[in-house]
Amino acid sequence: MIISDYHIHSNFSGDSVENLDKICKRAIKLGIKEIAITDHMDLDIKENYNSTNFILNLDEYIPEILKIKDIYKKDVDIKIGMEFGIQKQLGNIGDEIIEKNPFDFIIASVHSIDRLLLDKKEFWCNKSRDDAHNKYFLEMLKSIKNFNQFSVVGHFDFITRYGGFNKNKIIDYIKYGDIIDEILKTLISKGKGIEINTSGIRYNENRFYPCDDIVKRYFELGGEIITLGSDAHKSSDIGKDFKKAYDFLENIGVKYISSFDKLDVSFKKIK
Ligand SMILES: [Zn+2]
Ligand SMILES: [Zn+2]
Repeated sequence: MIISDYHIHSNFSGDSVENLDKICKRAIKLGIKEIAITDHMDLDIKENYNSTNFILNLDEYIPEILKIKDIYKKDVDIKIGMEFGIQKQLGNIGDEIIEKNPFDFIIASVHSIDRLLLDKKEFWCNKSRDDAHNKYFLEMLKSIKNFNQFSVVGHFDFITRYGGFNKNKIIDYIKYGDIIDEILKTLISKGKGIEINTSGIRYNENRFYPCDDIVKRYFELGGEIITLGSDAHKSSDIGKDFKKAYDFLENIGVKYISSFDKLDVSFKKIK
């Protein structure tokens, strides 16, 4: 049974065409009791000059989610979420936006560095894969230090998906262990979590984001907050590969996943 899917994009995200109604119907069909709609908000990126695809129009978004939340309230609990693109120069802009709106759940994700999206060649030129990976984790660390109103870090090590066009599908955990530990300790001290993002399996990386070692280390260091997200951009991907993720969590002795309401966390037993 799928308890919840906390990472779903609707057509409010520039890279998804799925409507909210279809998303809800799919979740209900799968018997999922809780979903978070987490559309993209990426501020201060170069792409925003050409389009507004990555800027979430909250004046339209929030009322739409509230409406659909009410329509389907008997069958599925819909959380008002957002995937906020963190960058070190944004300071506490994210906090200001989130505090003004009735959010339940926020994913903080590094999608761009120095205003360049990680899936664009411009970011990768003149950088070795190691430089890029280093920069990515440093950006994450600096950004989460200045940001408070988020719930979990999204797809922790998904930088391998782009990988510098010379793919190495797994982060060299030994090489980046120190900075990864520092990020995890910062998250734990701020009462924040991580997500298991199952999209890595769909993107042919054959693993979740983050890799198993990072999830294990988060719990070893005392972390308790974890959500599962499909990162679906179409409704057929909702809840995909969650059984594998639950099995993994059970194998490493994790019994609870997190649920969020108005940014407050509570816990649900996996079985
Ligand atoms: Zn993302
Ligand atoms: Zn996403």
